[in-house]
Amino acid sequence: MNNDRRSGLIRWTAVIAVAVLLVAVGIGLRRGAVQRAGAVSVARPANPEGTPNRAESIAFTMGTVARITAEGERAEEAVAAVTAELDRLTAIFDRFRPYGDLAAVNAAGGEWVKVSGEVMTLLEEALFLAELSGGSFDPTIAPVVDLWGFVEVDHEHGSDSPTPMAGHKPPDPNELARVHKTVGYRGVEIDRENGRVRLTVPGQQIDLGAVAKGYAADRAAELLRQQGVERALIDLGGDIYALGTRPDGTPWRLGIRHPRVQGQLLGIVRASDVAVATSGDYERYFEYQGVRYSHILDPKTGWPAQEVISVTVVAPSGVWADALSTAAFVLGKERGAALLESLDGVEGIIVDRELNVHVTSGLVDAFQPL
Ligand code: ADP
Ligand code: MG
Repeated sequence: MNNDRRSGLIRWTAVIAVAVLLVAVGIGLRRGAVQRAGAVSVARPANPEGTPNRAESIAFTMGTVARITAEGERAEEAVAAVTAELDRLTAIFDRFRPYGDLAAVNAAGGEWVKVSGEVMTLLEEALFLAELSGGSFDPTIAPVVDLWGFVEVDHEHGSDSPTPMAGHKPPDPNELARVHKTVGYRGVEIDRENGRVRLTVPGQQIDLGAVAKGYAADRAAELLRQQGVERALIDLGGDIYALGTRPDGTPWRLGIRHPRVQGQLLGIVRASDVAVATSGDYERYFEYQGVRYSHILDPKTGWPAQEVISVTVVAPSGVWADALSTAAFVLGKERGAALLESLDGVEGIIVDRELNVHVTSGLVDAFQPL
């Protein structure tokens, strides 16, 4: 073995070792080993002379375990800046944060409320995507999600149970009908000039949680690029941004989780300078009388979407990937695939209940089934 290959091998062995450590730290986090938000320091492989600086970080933020790997001269500072940014975004998009913009809009009983430029931008984009998806993605669905009991998984005090929602059942139909009346993104009015928002439907609530992680991935990529980072993997618990390429110039290889066999991959997507998001029915769900009910709801009915079990979307931005994976999940195999096919630069993988895997035309070459 020549020296180049050997040092390459050693470097990759080190990277794999760190990856294993990251997973181990991730498991520790899920089990509540680390009690508060913030970065966890992680060992870094030594940088042989002449190789670019590489930094890794794992943090509990955005309600999930965020893993960032970056390569560049100032990779360490860049990664630290991203972690701080993710904490800032967690607070901004938390609709339960006292005095937060979203809490204020939701509590205003239909009055106009001023919001920050950033909240305005993401809200406008969410409303655009709601329209684009024929309302299958809808940022006003939150009260119905709450009624079903699909709360955010609390990783800080998290449960070790693989089915933390055991014992749940569907809500009372009258109660569901009452809450469902508040849903409808067209009820959200925007006064861009004055930076104000109001909700015109009584009881209506907005929540940007379904696109916040995608937005955060985009911001992270932007910050890294600004700091001169040319290659990075940003993984916010399934919302991924693949910046640049792997060190050898080939695209990043992202494993797509098998929706039914834990620890197994469905396949690998090759990705470079794109966002990849997956929505599945296997993380937040309960079973009642033999039927699985999971956390993505059809805004038209207020009931969990059940036609497919996993959707992965590749898109130019994290916001699009995040929203469109939810939208295609609701639309199902045929209509979901049609939506993804209709959009430039957007591709996807849809798995139906019989475990048939549908790959959109532009992704056939970049997806390797396993
Ligand atoms: P995850 O949170 O597991 O990454 P998603 O990104 O697909 O999953 O977002 C799903 C979350 O969005 C749900 O937990 C719920 O709060 C909300 N949601 C559920 N159905 C919809 C929908 N049709 N449109 C918008 N948001 C939704
Ligand atoms: Mg989503």
